[in-house]
Amino acid sequence: MHQPAITELAAADPEIAGLVEQEAKRQYEKIRLIASENYVSTAVLEATGTVLTNKYSEGYAGKRYYEGQQLVDPIENLAIERAKSVFGVEHANVQPYSGSPANLAVYLAFLQPGETVMGMALPAGGHLTHGWNVSATGKWFRSVAYGVRKDTGLVDLDEVRELALAERPKLIWCGGTAIPRTIDYPAFAEIANEVGAVLVADIAHIAGLIAGGAHPSPVGHAPVISTTTHKTLRGPRGAMLMSTAEHAKALDKAVFPGLQGGPHNHTTAAIAVALGEAGKPEFSAYAHAIVANAKALAEALVERGFDLVSGGTDNHLILIDLTNKGIAGKPAAKALDRAGIELNYNSVPFDPRKPFDPSGLRLGTAAITTRGLGTEHMAKVAEWIDQTVQAENAGDEATVERIAGEIRELLDGYPMPGWA
Ligand SMILES: *Cc1c(COP(=O)(O)O)cnc(C)c1O
Repeated sequence: MHQPAITELAAADPEIAGLVEQEAKRQYEKIRLIASENYVSTAVLEATGTVLTNKYSEGYAGKRYYEGQQLVDPIENLAIERAKSVFGVEHANVQPYSGSPANLAVYLAFLQPGETVMGMALPAGGHLTHGWNVSATGKWFRSVAYGVRKDTGLVDLDEVRELALAERPKLIWCGGTAIPRTIDYPAFAEIANEVGAVLVADIAHIAGLIAGGAHPSPVGHAPVISTTTHKTLRGPRGAMLMSTAEHAKALDKAVFPGLQGGPHNHTTAAIAVALGEAGKPEFSAYAHAIVANAKALAEALVERGFDLVSGGTDNHLILIDLTNKGIAGKPAAKALDRAGIELNYNSVPFDPRKPFDPSGLRLGTAAITTRGLGTEHMAKVAEWIDQTVQAENAGDEATVERIAGEIRELLDGYPMPGWA
């Protein structure tokens, strides 16, 4: 049963309540390996379901455009103070609705339309909002993209530097959505300084690892940091912009009134709760356990002949190139989903296939680590992945079903916040 129980919802709208119940059960029964997902705590879930959703609060604490902010102001201030303390930053804005609008606010703060931005190419592991051509950020700004080397799967910082010197971007993004390796913030900072660009570290995926000390921090290197709050950081759907004091005003103005209206106060409260959790020693252990699980899973996959982009992982994320397994990403992802392993098909660098039918799979260990799975389980997870891929190639649906049953059985021993 969904936890907290949704009894009023069930009475008022059984159709929606029924679907929510089924979704909670689905999350309980699956090995969830989508690298951007997690399970939030029951405390975070409760905060998102509060009366704060009723309140409008355009503006910032002490400078609002509506009355009745006696309690919203301290909630938002707590979220800000906790963000500053967890990440060691001078300024935090907790109002962006999600990662993409947070990034758009960065453009608004620093660039005029048509000016040059540099980011990692989407197929190399970057995010749409780092200037990719189908995104507003690639349409409204002049965008240049760097990638990874074909032989190593790693960012070539010499190439980044040459490109920056030639194109003179005003804004440089580092970070992305499918990068299995540590981001070299000092090296990016050196390049940005050389060309007079503002360096933005987009830590959406790895914010929890940084908070827990399991990935180097961009603080002191990137004056602007963008993050979602719902990936490894394990908070509600939302985002934050953090910066040095120098950029505080420009970023705040860009978020409101530049881009958004009223902040989602229930989300702000849940962000504060999640940041409270992320400031505890247990969270550091969690962040390190995520990385240990990813490394163990990567090793077990390599042993089974899987070809990993860059050969392995330093963080929570693994990118598999399935070419040598004789299957594309999409049919493999669909078979794995039927087998109880949820992940996404993904382009790999230099992918000869199309983005909607690419060669790879992306996996992450944040959610299964929250669930309580440890390094001792990763060989079995790799075995299940391997067997499912082979079964799909052989048209052997019985094996897929057997694995789904074994996974349900394993996960029954591991409680899920949000389900009882
Ligand atoms: C997830 C992600 C985003 C966007 O977040 P949304 O909340 O989905 O809009 C931005 N940048 C990076 C690097 C991400 O991984």
